[in-house]
Amino acid sequence: MECMRSPLPDYLTEVLRGCADSSGTLADYIPELARADPDRFALTLVTAEGAMYSVGDDDTEFTIQSISKPFVYGLALQQRGFDAVLDVIDVEPSGEAFNEVSLERNTGRPLNPMINAGALAAHALVLDDRPVEDSVEDIRSLLSSLAGRDLAIDEKVAASELENSYRNVAIANLLRGYEVFEDDPDEIVEGYIRQCSVTVTTKDLAMMAATLAAGGVQPVTCEEIFSRDVVRQVLSVMATCGMYDAAGDWLSTVGIPAKSGVSGGIIGILPGQLGIAAYSPRLDEHGTSVQGVAAFGRLSRDMNLHLMDAP
Ligand code: GLN
Repeated sequence: MECMRSPLPDYLTEVLRGCADSSGTLADYIPELARADPDRFALTLVTAEGAMYSVGDDDTEFTIQSISKPFVYGLALQQRGFDAVLDVIDVEPSGEAFNEVSLERNTGRPLNPMINAGALAAHALVLDDRPVEDSVEDIRSLLSSLAGRDLAIDEKVAASELENSYRNVAIANLLRGYEVFEDDPDEIVEGYIRQCSVTVTTKDLAMMAATLAAGGVQPVTCEEIFSRDVVRQVLSVMATCGMYDAAGDWLSTVGIPAKSGVSGGIIGILPGQLGIAAYSPRLDEHGTSVQGVAAFGRLSRDMNLHLMDAP
């Protein structure tokens, strides 16, 4: 039984206070995301053993968006094997924005699975010639297992993005043209957008991150979700490509594998130790949460989380 009160929640509350910043803007290219309350701010830590420390608006639900990408990449690796996935999606940082058309010149192979081009290709690998409801259900069910509770899809956000998906439709059509996949591009975009519309809280995201920190085993349910090889591959790609055109800056300043999403979430993983999630919907020019970046920077400095530091 735990008899001592942990000082961690007070410290985390102080981090939220210290990182208060009203700069940045809500994503509005998906109109439904612009309806979020801009002042929400939450921070959750889950250890690799499953202990949770959580402060702020940690019951606020938001759509997972691009934070789904590393998990769907992991699912593709697990279902199809490394060779089949690496044939289709490279692991090189693009140094470009998430929605850039970053494809290898002759083959059309997306540069990495964290940008939209690679995430669309990863969705196609999971789809594997089945109806799109099946890939979406596989992904919703995977994300639920990682969170340790049943997650739903926000149909309003999905519909709102689908109505404004010209750029992703263009990328999916290019991928189809290069024969990166042979499915109907509209179907891939629909599946990918529904994958991005799974709703989560920071508690869910921190639990997902903690599962990666724990080598693929969900720390509370003890379900073995990813193999250790898959986790290593996913974390490596997150470290080099997870923050898009800010990946180098992030790795040198914060120093942990991470992934952001345009609804305002960020996850970070300290292998063997900790999963971290922040949420605050005002975004910087990279489409990443302003307050979330500040909170991660502060945690990394205060708690010596930078992976390149000597112990
Ligand atoms: N669904 C969003 C898109 O494809 C996800 C982008 C993101 O979170 N960076 O544009």
